[in-house]
Amino acid sequence: MSARIIDGKAVAAALRASVAERAASLPYRPGLAVVLVGDDPASTVYVRNKDRAANAAGIAARTLRLPAGTAEADLLAIVDGLNTDPEVDGILVQMPLPAQIRSRAVIDAIDPAKDVDGLHPLNVGRLHDGQPGLAPCTPRGVMKLLAHAGVALRGARTLVLGRSVLVGRPLAALLTAADATVTVAHSRTRDLPAECRRAEVLVAAVGRAELVRGDWIGPGAVVIDVGINRLADGRLVGDVAFAEAVAVAGALTPVPGGVGPMTIACLLENTLIAAARRRQ
Ligand code: NAP
Repeated sequence: MSARIIDGKAVAAALRASVAERAASLPYRPGLAVVLVGDDPASTVYVRNKDRAANAAGIAARTLRLPAGTAEADLLAIVDGLNTDPEVDGILVQMPLPAQIRSRAVIDAIDPAKDVDGLHPLNVGRLHDGQPGLAPCTPRGVMKLLAHAGVALRGARTLVLGRSVLVGRPLAALLTAADATVTVAHSRTRDLPAECRRAEVLVAAVGRAELVRGDWIGPGAVVIDVGINRLADGRLVGDVAFAEAVAVAGALTPVPGGVGPMTIACLLENTLIAAARRRQ
C-alpha cells in the first residue's frame, strides 16, 4: 500500500487565488503590516515571502524592519500606531523577538481585531469557546488540508503530537470544534508510539526530525506533518519518517510542500477576514 499524498502546494495555490479574487471584489484594499525586528535569516525569508504573497493577492502589505537593538517600549509604540492606522487590517510581529523584548507584552498589545496570527489572549479564548475570532494560521491550514483530503473528523480518534501555543493547542481546539475525539500528546506522554498507533488522524508538530516512525502509524491513518527540520546535510525533513510512513498511512502530507505553504495562504485569508469585520 502507498499513501495518497496530500498536495499542500496545490491547495495553498487555490486558496491564494480565492483570496485574490475576493480581495479584487472589495471596495477597499485590505492592509497587512508585518514587523520584523533584527535580521535573523529564517525570519527575513519568512517575512519576505509573506509580503510578496500578500501583495500578489491584492493585499497592501508593508514590512517594517527594525534594528535588533530596538527597545520593547519603542516596538510597543509602533504596534500602537498600527492599531490606530485605519489602512491596516492585519498586524503580524514576526517571532522570535530579540531577548530584550517580551513577546507576550507585544502580542497582548496588538488590537485583537487585527491579530492575524491569532495569538492574542482574546482570540485564544474565543477559539476555545467556539466563538468567531482570528485563529492561528498553521492550525487553520491543517484543517483545510484535512477538509481537502475529505477526512471525516466527526468522532475520529485524532492525536495531536505537540502542545505549543502556536500549533498543538489551537489545532486541538479546532479539531474538537469539528467533533473529532482529540488526544494531545507531548514530551511527557507515556508510550508515545502506542498513542500514535491508535490514531485514525495523526498530526505531528514537535520539531524533532523523523520522530514518528512507520510502525507508530496505524494502517490507513491520515498523517499530517507540520514539522520543518533542517538536517546537518542540509535536507529539510518533517517530524514523520516519510519513506516509512508512506508505506503504512492512508494519506500523508510531504515536507516540504505540505502544511508549510498553507500557513501563508491562511495568513492572507485571515487578513481578509479581519478587514471584512473591521470595515463592515
Ligand atoms: P514547539 O513550540 O517547540 O513545541 C513542540 C512540542 O512538541 C511541545 O509541546 C513538546 O512537548 C513536544 N515535543 C518535543 N519533543 C518531543 C518528543 N520527543 N516527544 C513528544 N513530544 C515532544 O514547536 P512548534 O512551534 O509547535 O513547532 C513544531 C514544529 O512545527 C517545528 O518543526 C516547527 O518548525 C514546525 N512549524 C511549521 C509551521 C509551518 O508553517 N509548516 C509553522 C509552525 C511550526 P512539551 O510541551 O512537553 O515540551
